[in-house]
Amino acid sequence: MTLDEARARDAADPLRGLRERFVLPEGVIYLDGNSLGPLPRATVAAQTDLIERQWGARLIRSWGEGWMDSPSRIGGKLARWIGAGADEVIVADSTSTNLFKLIVAALRHDPTRTVVVSEAGNFPSDLHIAEGAVACVPGATLRAVPREALAEAIDDRTAVVLLTHVHYKTSQRFDMPAWTKRAHEAGALICWDLSHSTGAVPVDLTQANADCAVGCGYKFLNGGPGAPAFLYVAKRHQAGFDNPISGWMGHADPFGFADPYEAGPGMERWRTGTPAMLAMGALEAGLDSIADISIEVLAAKSAALFDVFAGIGDALGLECVSPRDAGQRGSHISFRHADARAIMGRLIDAGVIGDFRDPDILRFGLTPLYIGYADIVRAGEVLAQVLRHD
Ligand SMILES: *Cc1c(COP(=O)(O)O)cnc(C)c1O
Repeated sequence: MTLDEARARDAADPLRGLRERFVLPEGVIYLDGNSLGPLPRATVAAQTDLIERQWGARLIRSWGEGWMDSPSRIGGKLARWIGAGADEVIVADSTSTNLFKLIVAALRHDPTRTVVVSEAGNFPSDLHIAEGAVACVPGATLRAVPREALAEAIDDRTAVVLLTHVHYKTSQRFDMPAWTKRAHEAGALICWDLSHSTGAVPVDLTQANADCAVGCGYKFLNGGPGAPAFLYVAKRHQAGFDNPISGWMGHADPFGFADPYEAGPGMERWRTGTPAMLAMGALEAGLDSIADISIEVLAAKSAALFDVFAGIGDALGLECVSPRDAGQRGSHISFRHADARAIMGRLIDAGVIGDFRDPDILRFGLTPLYIGYADIVRAGEVLAQVLRHD
C-alpha cells in the first residue's frame, strides 16, 4: 500500500474522527496502546472535576455521591466489552490481585480437585500469582504446560484452567467457547485473563459459558497507568465463590463494623479495601470515551491494519509470529528478530513507539481508535530504514 492509498483509506474510514478524542503527541506513531492506552481528552476534564469538586469541595460527602458504588457502576459499563451481565463484573485492585482471588476461590470451591492448569509461557504474573495461590491452599499444585499439551493436562484433578485469551507476545487467541467446553467436560472451572482482549476483539463470556475472568483497565480501555482491573464471576457461581482477601469493603454491611466477616451479595464480595478513586475516575472516563463504539467495527479495522503491517513485514523479510487468520489473534502484531531490542530502541527514537518483549519479539499494537492506515505505512518506512542500518 502506498502512502496515498493509505491516506485515501483513512479518509473513508468511519472511525477516523475518533483520534481527536485522544491526546497524542506530534511526531509520534503510537503502536503501544496494548501496553498503556493513551490519554483520552475527556479524562483530563473528568480528573479535574474529581479532584477539585468531588474531593476538594464535596470532601467525604462524595462517598455517598457516587464513589462508594463506583466499582459496580464502572463494572457495569465494562460488561458490554466482555459479553457479561452488568451484575457480573466489578472493578477493583489489579489484574494480578484479582487472579489470586479467583484461583484461591476456585481451589476452595471443590477441595477434591487440587490442580491449576495453565500454559507455559503465559504472561509471567499469571504464573507467578498461580504459584503463590497454590502455596496458600493445602495440597494444591500448578501445572503449566505448552499449548499443545493443554487438552491432555486437563483431567479430573483439575480445579481450574487458567488461560490468557490473547497471548501477550504472539497475539495468538484461544477459541474461548471450545476451551471452556473442554474444561467443563473434565468437570473443571475455567478462568480467562482478558487483558489483551478487552476492547480489542469481540469477547462473549456468556455465550462461551465461562466461569470467571479478569482483565486490565490500562491497555485497550485507556484507563490510565495502573488503572484498576476487573473481575467477572458468572451469575451461577456468585453465591458459591468466596473472596480469600476478605476485606471490609466486600462485607455485606461495611459500616455495621461487626467483627466477623460476612460476604457481600453478588459481585460486591470481590471488593477488598477502599477503591482508589482518582484511578477509578480515570478508568470510567476511558470507558465513557468509547461507549458509543462497537467492538465489531474496531476489530474489523484492526484486522485490516494488521494485513497492511503484515504485508510490510513480508516485504522486509521479517518473521511474523502472529496468526494470519484474524479470528485466531488479538489486536497486535509481533515479529521475531535476533536484534529486536536494538531495533525497537531505534524505532522509538524515530517516533514509532512499539515495544520489545524478551528475548526477540518486536510488538506493535494496532489500536483502530487512533491509528490509521497512513500511520502503518509510515511506521513501515521507518522500520525499513532502521533495518537497513542494522
Ligand atoms: C497486562 C497483563 C497483566 C497485568 O497485570 P497487573 O496486575 O496489572 O500488573 C496481567 N495479565 C496479562 C495477561 C496481561 O497482559
